[in-house]
Amino acid sequence: MEILETPYDEWVGYLKTHHGKGAFHASALVREVMVHGNPCFGDSKAFREAPALAAALAGEVRFTPPVVEETVCEDGVVKVLHRLADGLAVESVVIPMKGYATLCLSTQVGCRMGCRFCRTGRMGLRRNLTVAEMTGQLWNARFVLKAPIRNLVFMGMGEPLDNLENVVRAVGVMTDIRGFSIGPKRITVSTVGLADQMTRLADANLGVRLALSLNASDDAVRSTLMPVNRRYPLAVLKETLGALAGHKGLRDGVLLEYVLIRGVNDRPEDAKRLAGFVSGLTATLNLIPFNPSKGETELTAPCDADVNAFHDQLVARGLHVRRRWSQGEGLLAACGQLGEEACRVYRLP
Ligand code: SF4
Repeated sequence: MEILETPYDEWVGYLKTHHGKGAFHASALVREVMVHGNPCFGDSKAFREAPALAAALAGEVRFTPPVVEETVCEDGVVKVLHRLADGLAVESVVIPMKGYATLCLSTQVGCRMGCRFCRTGRMGLRRNLTVAEMTGQLWNARFVLKAPIRNLVFMGMGEPLDNLENVVRAVGVMTDIRGFSIGPKRITVSTVGLADQMTRLADANLGVRLALSLNASDDAVRSTLMPVNRRYPLAVLKETLGALAGHKGLRDGVLLEYVLIRGVNDRPEDAKRLAGFVSGLTATLNLIPFNPSKGETELTAPCDADVNAFHDQLVARGLHVRRRWSQGEGLLAACGQLGEEACRVYRLP
């Protein structure tokens, strides 16, 4: 049994079946590790009073979060390099907010979606992360870095819905009120638009918010930027979002992410088509100016005036739009910037 990937209910069942115990010791174990940040659950009062049980369990359970190997901080944003047991590594990012922090988590080592603007995509997919490697990023952020994590965004390395089963289980562990207790409404799961998996995520009834990385207003441009669009074009995405509207398994309202790239998707006709796509959906649109990697792509960022003009055109069409500046730009910790640079800087395999 790995502590970081076992939900409370399964602990109750395990303790009952193997040790004739139940909810009392399951709560104590989960609380000691996930709330107090102490992997030595035997230190808790409940287990101090049951030393034989503590000793037996200690031989049966594992606690193996990734190891925090390196942190880089700029303007309060902290990029964290987590070393995995097999020598590979992933990154997460702690973003400070007013009075709390948001953690951007990775779900895969690399990614097979191949988005043109993304460093991680250039790595290809090495493997999916396990549940413990995801919940371990949260444990490390809270208890190694002491960051007051309240919100989670699954927007780091990898396509979360390409590792859906493990993401669903990890969210289950992270939202348990006896443990990490992250409110489901404070969790956002992002996707490039794997439409079938979007429906499966909703059917998992987690209550999280769905974010769709849109980035273009027509299929020709989107397929160039994001190859997945050939499989799930805009019409399919719109139909899927429409079908999921009001689904009890998701938080109301989808977040649409739109990385603005100069001369590619920031023209007046893009704003018009984008408004057409959003019409009829309950959606918030996040505009994110592209953050180019030094000399590694021909794509370029729009200037402030162009971003403002695009924003104003959308607002004039009645859309709910937010401008999101790429916090963490200097650390390559902004959207689509995790992965490859870290491999180079930290000489990862
Ligand atoms: S943007 Fe996301 S889905 Fe696309 S290649 Fe990068 S990590 Fe993968």
